[in-house]
Amino acid sequence: MEEASRCLGCKKPRCQEGCPIHTNIPEVIRLLKDGKLNEAGWMLFENNPLTTVCSLVCNHEKQCEGHCVRGIKESPVHFSIIENYISSTYANQMVKGPAVPNGRKAAVIGAGPAGLTIAIILARYGYKITIYDSRDKIGGVLRYGIPDFRLPDSVLDDLAYRHLELKGIQFRPNTYIGSAITIDDLFRDGYQSIFVGAGLWKPNKLNIRGESLGHVTYAINYLASPDAFHLGERILVIGTGNSAMDCARTAIRKGARFVSCVNLTDTLTASQYESSYARLEGVDFIMNKCTVEIREDGVILADSQVDGDGRIRPVAGTEKLYPCTGVIIAVSQGAESNLVTTTRGIDTTGRGLLTVDEDGRTSRDGVFAAGDAASGARTVVEAVANGKRVAEAMHAYMQSLPMPVLTDYPDVPVAETKGSDAFAEQIL
Ligand SMILES: Cc1cc2nc3c(=O)[nH]c(=O)nc-3n(C[C@H](O)[C@H](O)[C@H](O)COP(=O)(O)OP(=O)(O)OC[C@H]3O[C@@H](n4cnc5c(N)ncnc54)[C@H](O)[C@@H]3O)c2cc1C
Repeated sequence: MEEASRCLGCKKPRCQEGCPIHTNIPEVIRLLKDGKLNEAGWMLFENNPLTTVCSLVCNHEKQCEGHCVRGIKESPVHFSIIENYISSTYANQMVKGPAVPNGRKAAVIGAGPAGLTIAIILARYGYKITIYDSRDKIGGVLRYGIPDFRLPDSVLDDLAYRHLELKGIQFRPNTYIGSAITIDDLFRDGYQSIFVGAGLWKPNKLNIRGESLGHVTYAINYLASPDAFHLGERILVIGTGNSAMDCARTAIRKGARFVSCVNLTDTLTASQYESSYARLEGVDFIMNKCTVEIREDGVILADSQVDGDGRIRPVAGTEKLYPCTGVIIAVSQGAESNLVTTTRGIDTTGRGLLTVDEDGRTSRDGVFAAGDAASGARTVVEAVANGKRVAEAMHAYMQSLPMPVLTDYPDVPVAETKGSDAFAEQIL
C-alpha cells in the first residue's frame, strides 16, 4: 500500500507505454487503493493471463518501472511488487469453470507463455483446446529454463490448475508433434486451427574443438535439470546473457565454488539486475575473450578484437588455459526443424524461424505461430502480447469455417463394457 501510494496517477502514464502488454497500471493501483483487490486482479488477468509470472520475470527496469516519472529523481514505483501481490492473492480465488462450448476445437503445440496465452483466450470463447508438449509439465522455458529461485514451480502449478484444469483445457504431455503425430494428423482429428508455440530449443554451438566432451553442456540442457550434471566445483560459463546468469547462479546453488562467465566484448549482455545479483553471489567476469578450444582440464581463451569486417576474432598468440572442471555454453538457442519438415507448406526464414504475418498466420492455411519460434529469442511478456493478437486472429479464422466433423461414425451404438451401466447391473 505504501508503494501504491507513491503512484502519481499520471494522466499520460509512461509506465503503461513502457509495458509491452500495456497493463493499465494507474487504474490497477487506484482500484487497490480503493480496497477493490478483486477488481484489480480481474483487470490484470483479463489483460495478461500470465500476470503473476510477468510480475516476477519481466525486465521491469527497462519496462514499466524504467518509464515511471518518479524514477527520474528518485526510485520508481515498484509496480512489479504490487502486481505480484494482487495477482497471486486474486489467483487463489479464481474458481470459474469452463465457458459454454462452441462446438469447435483448436490445438496448441507448446505449453510455453505463447501457447498458454492462446489456450486461455480461446477457451474463454468456448473452444475445446488441447495443448501438446514434448515435456511432462506446462511452462516451457518458464519451468525448464528459468531457475526456481527466480520463478517457483508453484506459480506454474497454480496456473495449470486455475487456468487449464478448471477451464477444461486438456494437456497432452510427453508428446512431440512432428514425430509420431504430425500437424496433418491434428487437422484430420477435427482441430480447425493449430497454433505453433514451440520456442527455440536447439542450443547454438561454438563449433570449436572439445565441445562434445563429457564435462561440457549447453545452458538450456543444464537448466532443464541441473541435478543431473556433475560438473565439479570450478565452472566456466561461456556467455554473459541472462541465461548465462541463470546458469552461473544455479551452479553456485548446486555447490560450485568458483564460477566465471566469459564475455566476447567489454559489455555484458545480461540486464544490470541479473548481472548484479550474479556478482553479489560470487560470479566473476572474464571480459574481451574468445573461446578457442575446450580441453579436459579447462578452456583456452584468447584476446578478442573486432576485425575490419566487424566480426570479433581471437588475437593469435594471446591464448591461455583457464583451468576448470565443467563448462556451460550459454550462447542462445535456435529453432528445431522436425515440426516443419514433417508438415507440408510451412515456410521458414533463413534462421529457421516460422514465417508469419502480423496476425501470426503462417504460409499454411489454419496454422498460426507466435512466441520465440516466430520472433526469435525475446521475452515472456512479448510472447504473451503477440499471443493475444494471434488468438483473436485464430478465433476469426475458425468462425469463418463450417462446423467441424468430429467422427466418421456418428450413429454407432454404444458397446457394453466394464464400467457401463448395463454391465454393472449384470454384476449386481
Ligand atoms: C534460460 C532462459 C531464461 C530466460 N529468462 C527470462 C526472463 O527472466 N524474463 C523474460 O521475459 N524472458 C526470459 N527468457 C526468454 C523467455 O523465456 C522466452 O522468450 C519465452 O519463454 C518464449 O515463450 P514461447 O512460448 O515462445 O516458448 P517456450 O517457452 O520455449 O515454450 C515452448 C514449448 O514448446 C515445447 N515444444 C517445442 N517443440 C515441440 C514440439 N514439436 N511438440 C510439442 N512441444 C514442443 C517445448 O517443450 C516448450 O515447452 C529466458 C529464456 C531462457 C532460455
